[in-house]
Amino acid sequence: MSGLERTEPKTILVAGGAGFLGSHLCETLLGIGAKVLCLDSFQTGRRQNIAALENHPKFKLIEGDVRSLPMINERLDEIYNLACPASPPHYQADPIGTMMTCVLGTKNLLYLAEANGARLVQASTSEVYGDPDVHPQREDYVGHVNCTGPRACYDEGKRAAEALCFDYLRLGKANVRVARIFNTYGPRMRADDGRIVSNLIVQALAGQALTIYGDGTQTRSFCFVSDLVAGLCGLMALQLNPEAPVNLGNPGEFTIAELAEKVSQLIPGQSRLVYSPLPADDPKRRRPDISRAEELIGWHPRIALDEGLMRTVEWFAQTAKGPALVA
Ligand code: NAD
Ligand code: UDP
Repeated sequence: MSGLERTEPKTILVAGGAGFLGSHLCETLLGIGAKVLCLDSFQTGRRQNIAALENHPKFKLIEGDVRSLPMINERLDEIYNLACPASPPHYQADPIGTMMTCVLGTKNLLYLAEANGARLVQASTSEVYGDPDVHPQREDYVGHVNCTGPRACYDEGKRAAEALCFDYLRLGKANVRVARIFNTYGPRMRADDGRIVSNLIVQALAGQALTIYGDGTQTRSFCFVSDLVAGLCGLMALQLNPEAPVNLGNPGEFTIAELAEKVSQLIPGQSRLVYSPLPADDPKRRRPDISRAEELIGWHPRIALDEGLMRTVEWFAQTAKGPALVA
């Protein structure tokens, strides 16, 4: 089951809908006939991400902040909560704001789900596992997070949001599902996003040296955006609530040095690497165990890293002329 089947028209709120993942999700939901309300504060999202959707008769933009939810007068069937900056430089730029977006924003949307009898899918993160000492990461691993470090505003914010979600579920207040999303990349990442895939591509296209933090031996597992969106929709579509978080990510695991090598091969001309210290609490290894998603949703990623990188490079080469890179 892909979760993308056309069903009866639904009204769906996508909080964070003008962001990287959110804009692809809005597009997919419109494609299956839903009415989509996109709520976004434009903290990291961009109008251009949803420009092609704004004239769609079933698309509505609500500019607002999940921390002080604007009045939403429509009856909602489903809510996706993607509202939160996801890139370390962006979520650390306003750490208190990030924590409050995670906690208060999620609480407000859970209340909205309860009031509407709507299903809610919460975008959680592999960061709830911290710098994991269990590998690969299964959902029953409780994690290894530094609760006082610079990543804590995001990691602990998302953990608190999960706790709220499962309390709402246990109390019978909201039909909520939690997706733990692993590193996802693709078209519409900002040129100044600061995460590894966009940084490397933007640097290589500009003929600049590629920035490697640490020695490049740390690993990540990279999921292409269309696969991730299919997983989120599949989780929402499940009739039976899994009552447990579900990992969504591509289990292919690569070192950052291997990723830089792949980008260099796709964009020949500049292969110089510059090294700088690994940021505090940067996870050393990360790979999802996705057997739960496979069993429950029949979901697994279809786009391999080489293919996804090629599509992302093409998109950046054609369209990205964004502001200065965060490195
Ligand atoms: P993004 O920064 O592109 O998108 C986040 C969106 O939320 C932006 O449009 C931003 O303007 C909006 N937003 C932020 N704070 C808000 C607030 N207080 N009120 C309303 N809108 C607000 O990031 P993304 O990569 O698209 O991530 C989307 C979600 O998925 C986030 O919740 C993130 O934590 C989660 N996630 C993403 C990844 C990934 O690799 N992309 C991995 C794990 C989890
Ligand atoms: N990273 C890097 N160079 C960059 C950006 C990131 O070497 O220009 C590293 C970063 O330290 C981390 C990995 O790449 O080890 C993935 O970083 P990203 O910010 O994309 O995601 P996250 O750390 O949140 O998984």
